[in-house]
Amino acid sequence: MTAQFTRPAAIKLADHGERPLAEPQRLTVLGATGSIGESTLDLVGREPERFEIIALTAQCNVEKLARLAIAHRARLAVVGDETCYAELKQRLSGTGIETAAGEAALVDAASRPADCTMAAIVGAAGLRPTFAAARQGRRVALANKECLVSAGDVFLSEVRKAGAELLPVDSEHSAALQSLAGAERTAVERIVLTASGGPFRCWSLEQLKDARPEQALKHPNWAMGAKITIDSATLMNKGLELIEAYHLFPVGVDQLDAVVHPQSVVHCLVHYIDGSVIAQLGPPDMRTPIALALNWPERRTTPTAKLDLVKIGSLTFEPVDAVRFPGPSIAKDALRRGGSASAILNAANEIAVDAFLNANIGFLDISRIVRQTLEHAEARGLICATQSLDDVLSADREARALARTVIESLN
Ligand code: NAD
Ligand code: MG
Repeated sequence: MTAQFTRPAAIKLADHGERPLAEPQRLTVLGATGSIGESTLDLVGREPERFEIIALTAQCNVEKLARLAIAHRARLAVVGDETCYAELKQRLSGTGIETAAGEAALVDAASRPADCTMAAIVGAAGLRPTFAAARQGRRVALANKECLVSAGDVFLSEVRKAGAELLPVDSEHSAALQSLAGAERTAVERIVLTASGGPFRCWSLEQLKDARPEQALKHPNWAMGAKITIDSATLMNKGLELIEAYHLFPVGVDQLDAVVHPQSVVHCLVHYIDGSVIAQLGPPDMRTPIALALNWPERRTTPTAKLDLVKIGSLTFEPVDAVRFPGPSIAKDALRRGGSASAILNAANEIAVDAFLNANIGFLDISRIVRQTLEHAEARGLICATQSLDDVLSADREARALARTVIESLN
């Protein structure tokens, strides 16, 4: 593991010298048809003169991708799934928008010169394209948390090597970035991420056994893609975010915590050694952290609802119940194991969430599968140092196979 206080160097403040503000920002959106992609393009559509869209990508939602590419005059539109290529080509014929398909085409899109890349593909599928974007040495607005979870040190070393600028999009990490502004590393005592608690916050263990996908997909506060919505219901999302925070900010594992805050108004609390706590508050709308990541350090007007604390009345906080929601503690455990453990955790979680969404396993099995996959990996000596993206992807592949055998053993 890297030394405790070297990581924040990855976050470099914007240098306005390079491109005058009057010029439009060249922007690529990876995962343009998803929830984060849509919110990003909503902001872009409100100030089209400030952006020039280089590339938009999606996995297979061709109809939406083509519509967005035309609306935002993208130069290039790419689908990951090659079987969707003919339809994309047909929908964009005569528009002058270049089209491509396949994994290599996603990486190529991410490598086209852009001032900023919104990395918003879900899951480990986002790793190669996000690495390619970082290698440009410009700005990466990082929504794809799996990239830091699976490939933390390897990714940050690429970011540093390329001289890229990394801006977190996750609301808690955007909040931490703001709450840490100007702080001396030694003055920071603890970083606490808030979690809404998800739709099952008040459910008993007995009830959770029978929780169904359609119930887990109803998040009380945030509208998000399916995978992160399930992660929010298990609280594994907070686990992934603790790992993400570990890589982004100047704290060790034991200085990171999560607390349940059902109103989702306070996004992160930074505790300082003198007793001060600096927090960032905002409505639960991703357009606020997205706007900051696109425009950092500038703040721009967004269409989000204004926060009315009087109307909200009270803000409440509860501890995370590690029995019903073991995700955060499993994640901290993976961080302590180091090496490929977090990549294994992430891969096992992706497989388990998928199995739950397909009604092949129960809700409580998700965390069980992640924990058991990590234990089996450790017993087989599969947790090892990762030096490169290929090492991370090979750990990811092995963990997926292992997680599938754990699922079979449950059935
Ligand atoms: P989503 O499911 O709504 O969208 C995912 C996007 O990725 C889509 O455009 C989809 O076409 C594309 N995609 C999916 N699989 C792909 C593959 N194999 N190859 C290429 N592209 C693929 O997800 P989302 O909610 O927008 O989340 C995106 C990322 O942002 C996730 O990593 C998530 O954890 C993170 N994030 C999301 C939110 C949120 O509010 N939605 C908040 C914080 C962080
Ligand atoms: Mg978050």
